[in-house]
Amino acid sequence: MGYAVLKSTAPFTLHLRCDNCMRESTRDIELPVGDDIPRDADELIESAFLGSLKFNCRPCGGVIGRLIGIEGGNPYGY
Ligand SMILES: [Zn+2]
Repeated sequence: MGYAVLKSTAPFTLHLRCDNCMRESTRDIELPVGDDIPRDADELIESAFLGSLKFNCRPCGGVIGRLIGIEGGNPYGY
C-alpha cells in the first residue's frame, strides 16, 4: 500500500465501457520510460499507444471497449 516508490512516469487509469453489456471498467496502465511517451491524457489519446491495447470484458467476453475517461498523467506538464 502507499506510494513510496515514485516512478518516472505517471500511470494512467483508463475508464472503459463495454460496447456489448455497457459495464464500465477501469484499467491501469504504465507507460515505458522514454522521451516521446505521452505525459498527459491528451497526449495519450493522440499517441498510438491506445490502439495497441486489447479490450476484453470479463463478464460478457466483449472485445469492443469505448474509452470514456482517463485519469492520471502528469498534471504539471513539463
Ligand atoms: Zn461486457
